[in-house]
Amino acid sequence: MSLLSVRDLHIHIGDNHLVRGVDLAVERGECLALVGESGSGKSLTALSLMQLLPSHARLEHGEWLFDGQDMRSLDEKAWRKVRARRIAMVFQNPMTALNPTMTIGQQIAEVICLHTSMSRREARQRAIDLLERLGIVNAPRRAKQYPFELSGGMLQRAVIAMAVACGPSMLIADEPTTALDVTVQAEVLALLQELCRDEGLGLLLITHDLGVVEAMAKHLAVMYAGRIVESGECARVLSQPAHPYTRALQAAMPSLGEARESLQGIAGTPPDLSRQIPGCAFAPRCPQAMNICVRELPQTRLIETGQCTECWLWEKPE
Ligand code: SF4
Ligand code: MG
Repeated sequence: MSLLSVRDLHIHIGDNHLVRGVDLAVERGECLALVGESGSGKSLTALSLMQLLPSHARLEHGEWLFDGQDMRSLDEKAWRKVRARRIAMVFQNPMTALNPTMTIGQQIAEVICLHTSMSRREARQRAIDLLERLGIVNAPRRAKQYPFELSGGMLQRAVIAMAVACGPSMLIADEPTTALDVTVQAEVLALLQELCRDEGLGLLLITHDLGVVEAMAKHLAVMYAGRIVESGECARVLSQPAHPYTRALQAAMPSLGEARESLQGIAGTPPDLSRQIPGCAFAPRCPQAMNICVRELPQTRLIETGQCTECWLWEKPE
């Protein structure tokens, strides 16, 4: 059984139907990358998996299982426990996750004390061990420093240390390295990979960067206008992309080390999600669009090369 499995996830905010029937599965010890342009619904999907959407957002699920548990039935008290111990999240800007008035060591120790039975002293030692484990040189001294005294790369490591301090089984990382320079980026990614491998963590990695995807992910899901348009084993999807949007992304996306905040190069703009889209949402931008594409949504098909895709080009006429 997958660590996380979500079926038919919908998210509405106001009149906008922003996530329109997403299926996702994250396996233990593996990385699933979720890619797509800004506004495709990736971050919303991620936040919904932590029950962290704004309160006016409306959520519907066909199924939502985490570690065998039905997550739809949890109340906020239960969610606080889940967020502390079982699913952790790392954001793009580490500063948002840190308290500027406390040392790094204090902050990590506080998380540990709050959620385990460790004493303050044990927790402080564990914080230092974690920082060391995450490649911070001279960890005992660093633990006594404040966030402003550390580099971006060190801060992101500290945030990851905080995220894994209570031994979660899943990590959600939303553009975790976009704010870092190239060398540090590679180091932080290697670290996440190591955590997956050694601790059996399931990792949901959201990124704009196909180079990162290639280096990290076993599986890949490509999101467009609130739907997964193609998914499958990363190597297959990237070597033989089946959906025209995946191909457009590949042409437009930077390779490792050249991550940009937003993508350039796909002609046209994503659709207005306050209107109903009866057919394929990519049709107005798709070089291969046919009449039927605008009228009717294609079914998700498992194709010969092993990936699933949602495109009329793959619907075999009888
Ligand atoms: Fe293009 Fe049609 Fe396929 Fe959509 S369904 S990606 S418009 S060919
Ligand atoms: Mg985002």
